[in-house]
Amino acid sequence: MIISGYDSYPNVMRKEDPTWKFALGASPVTEGSILRITDEQGNEGFGYASATPHMGAIPGSLEAELAYFRPHVMGRDADDIEAIGAALDRAMRGAPQAKAAIDCALHELLAKRLGVPLCQLFGGKMRDSLPILRILAIKTPQEMAKAARKLVDEGYRYLKIKVHGEVDLDVARVAAIRKEVGDDVHLTIDANQAYTVKNAIIAINRMAEYKIDLVEQPVPADNFEGLALVTHTVPVKIEADEAAGSLAEVYQLVTRRAVDAVSLKVPKLGGIRNTIAAARLCEQGGVSYRLGAAVGSRLLAAHALHLACALPGVDYACELGEFARLLDDPFDGIEVVNGELRLPQVAGSGVRWKGPSAA
Ligand SMILES: [Mg+2]
Repeated sequence: MIISGYDSYPNVMRKEDPTWKFALGASPVTEGSILRITDEQGNEGFGYASATPHMGAIPGSLEAELAYFRPHVMGRDADDIEAIGAALDRAMRGAPQAKAAIDCALHELLAKRLGVPLCQLFGGKMRDSLPILRILAIKTPQEMAKAARKLVDEGYRYLKIKVHGEVDLDVARVAAIRKEVGDDVHLTIDANQAYTVKNAIIAINRMAEYKIDLVEQPVPADNFEGLALVTHTVPVKIEADEAAGSLAEVYQLVTRRAVDAVSLKVPKLGGIRNTIAAARLCEQGGVSYRLGAAVGSRLLAAHALHLACALPGVDYACELGEFARLLDDPFDGIEVVNGELRLPQVAGSGVRWKGPSAA
């Protein structure tokens, strides 16, 4: 089936809490682009290109990349997902977020045309639902404890504490949240590269007293040796996020066993096919993985949900519910209930576009 339409729509969603911040920045909005690919019969698939500056994409660059890729997609057979992906890689190095939007839209288009849920294209479902972890923005320890209580009262059992590199204050954040939510709630930490190696080791050893399941990206992304040292020194599972910014980096992390776990994200890895490849590398190297937060529309979360439900090695709560704190989502169709997302049992990804005006 020939691709006859390729349209992108810049998208801005307001955050419910405009003061939301983490160690790498603060913005009152989440930005990206919605890509719609249509075939000659009118079947359509959507992909979300995520504008994530710390992963190398801003709204203007995304729109330019999507426009640049257009002639490599239009007029092709929509079923040739691998060949189109190869053409994009030849046309331009990098640009994973734009490539991911194209890859996701093509997979969704194929699933809809075949009349099957998206996960069927990835080998079928291993599970029907997924526990969801929610993220606590950097605030005072008391404010973060209050935000944690609210999420637990909504039914969440997994929380991630954003910290920003001041050891005493960060440990106080963890202590306040543990005291507020009790022992049954799972807690993880994300430093977004904020610590030196020594401070990471000091902080994580102190945080471990409060029963932490995992610490994500404690040191700068390029410091693989430092990351490995932290991994081999502390008693808590260490996960790479920014350091795992491409399939090549996942390969390096796994072969060097520099981390215990990897946070896989479809936008940073350049699409669903690369994310599956990264998962297989992790499985082979005995490194655990899950689908991490790529904040944006329900469209983005729905594609990752189908993948997370199909991959055999997902062993921990995934971070696919951050859409719940965004306003103005142009897609609906999935909601977190009692801390879980259920896999939609319909053709495609299970989310619906409200139309260009909503984008
Ligand atoms: Mg992270």
